[in-house]
Amino acid sequence: MKGKIQTVCGWIDPGILGKTLTHEHLVADFSCFRAKPSQHAPRPDTLSFSMENLGFIRQYPYSFSENLNLHGEENHMVEELKFYRQNGGSSIVECTTLGLSRDVGKLKQISMETGVNVICGAGYYTANTHPSNMDSLTQEQLVSTLVRDITQGADGTDVRCGVIGEIGCSWPLTDNERKVLQATAAAQSETGCPVIIHPGGHKDAPCEIVRILQEAGGDISATVMSHIDRTFFEPEDVLEFASLGCYLEWDFFGLEVSHTQWQDIDMPNDAMRIRMIRQVLEEGHADRVVISHDVDTKHRLMHYGGHGYSHILLNVVPKMRNRGISEDILGKTLTHEHLVADFSCFRAKPSQHAPHPDTLSFSMENLGFIRQYPYSFLENLNLHGEENHMVEELKFFRQNGGSSIVECTTLGLSRDVGKLKQISMETGVNVICGAGYYTANTHPSNMDSLTQEQLVSTLVRDITQGADGTDVRCGVIGEIGCSWPLTDNERKVLQATAAAQSETGCPVIIHPGGHKDAPCEIVRILQEAGGDISATVMSHIDSTFFEPEDVLEFASLGCYLEWDFFGLEVSHTQWQDIDMPNDAMRIRMIRQVLEEGHADRVVISHDVDTKHRLMHYGGHGYSHILLNVVPKMRNRGISEEDINKILIENPKRWLVFK
Ligand SMILES: [Zn+2]
Ligand SMILES: [Zn+2]
Repeated sequence: MKGKIQTVCGWIDPGILGKTLTHEHLVADFSCFRAKPSQHAPRPDTLSFSMENLGFIRQYPYSFSENLNLHGEENHMVEELKFYRQNGGSSIVECTTLGLSRDVGKLKQISMETGVNVICGAGYYTANTHPSNMDSLTQEQLVSTLVRDITQGADGTDVRCGVIGEIGCSWPLTDNERKVLQATAAAQSETGCPVIIHPGGHKDAPCEIVRILQEAGGDISATVMSHIDRTFFEPEDVLEFASLGCYLEWDFFGLEVSHTQWQDIDMPNDAMRIRMIRQVLEEGHADRVVISHDVDTKHRLMHYGGHGYSHILLNVVPKMRNRGISEDILGKTLTHEHLVADFSCFRAKPSQHAPHPDTLSFSMENLGFIRQYPYSFLENLNLHGEENHMVEELKFFRQNGGSSIVECTTLGLSRDVGKLKQISMETGVNVICGAGYYTANTHPSNMDSLTQEQLVSTLVRDITQGADGTDVRCGVIGEIGCSWPLTDNERKVLQATAAAQSETGCPVIIHPGGHKDAPCEIVRILQEAGGDISATVMSHIDSTFFEPEDVLEFASLGCYLEWDFFGLEVSHTQWQDIDMPNDAMRIRMIRQVLEEGHADRVVISHDVDTKHRLMHYGGHGYSHILLNVVPKMRNRGISEEDINKILIENPKRWLVFK
């Protein structure tokens, strides 16, 4: 099952792994680490988990047997993991191995009850926990146990392990631990299973282990070295080790007490961990760092006054941001919206059925008419003055996991980039605004006399200096408006678009004319003028192509395909006499396009252009895709990986300046 991840509930696609803690324990017994009671502490026999004892327990956690046993905590684990999910967590590697009282059956139950993906571990912990017959076990026997746990099931169940480890090593390494390492490498080459190592507590230990694994045929690039935070204390040492190419795991996040009972070291706290990680990132190892809590005692659970499994998401990540560690912040992105715009240019005649537009107001009894004839009512076409509702909408969008919006209001639609900046700052939603001109009916009156050079220089100014007399710069060119048939001025604007794109590297988004030959003609014009089609979005696919063959033929040209009327489910449109699809039909068409291998080219949006589509006026709002469309896509068999591409990866690739 190359390319998949094996969880306690079966194989999953990497796309659904999400945020992952790479080293935790949920069901385990660490009695092997029992340490002598401290002279300061109360007698362990009389100890209970009460508030007045927690101070002692935090200093001497390994002196109290009860603290070392996570068995029996399943209900608290379920609470913890539900909370972890609420906070955006998705998966956990549970690396309890033989010797730590592993119970993969219980892990499966916890995973099923919480929806958190749990990956469990095969192999042996440190020598002091090895089975009594370990001396007599051959390497072949060890390999066959590992392979059985990975391919058939562990602990007498059918739950299969998805990692080998944590494989325990002492310092100095014992002969049996070396034998287990060699078996680990052999089982890894046989199964392709990833590996995670618990190194001995000495700065030379990780390097020695890597050498042993390598000599036995292990894949170091698929190996995590745990406990970096208690093994390396100098940046030079970590960086030297990093050059060997395994993953580096800081996995004691949440442990902030200097004293440790295992060894006389200076345990770092979270701030020091983050500082060390930042240095490693700065040296170019961002692809090799993972983090976790390695919860191994009761007192680290929230129920016992501890930090719990959500500590990294709740407390560490914000601190990382504050300390200058960058974020892939674009996130889920709607690629075609309007927040501040005026679409009066589309005003249509009132229908004979509708109430007189002058007497119309936004009341419940008028909404039925407005939905059928939205462009007949001037007030509906103007989004200016709706800033407060936009702020509400965008906060709700963020709550629902949304992160960024491309606001492609161009000249002719009453663009106001200053207001967009205000809305973005107030809501925390990234807003990318657009340069250029909309359709010919909205062009400035002197458009005939503007030369291509003048148009290019306006575009470049808006992208590099600021638009609308502000210092707010545009991050896309478009939506560039085209009619059918294309007018000469629209052609001139397209050519200027391509020129400004090659000059600045800015991505492009096009509003094509309403005919199935329009997108192809536009691509040709852009291409001839030097435009980069692979960084161009063709909008409004849902009102332009009605046959799968037509979309697929167009898809072969290589631009992004945007279905951007999600939420518009009324068949009738006032622009043109077409059969507007509804969301179900959009999803069906998208699925066909995905099946033909175009998953890297699909983006989606709502293209809100009228008041009646805002939640305040009874509409679907900007969260409709996240709340309603994504679940329907899943139900219709679109994979999580493809959904991720559509909402995150494709917008990101498109929006990066080339
Ligand atoms: Zn460990
Ligand atoms: Zn639009």
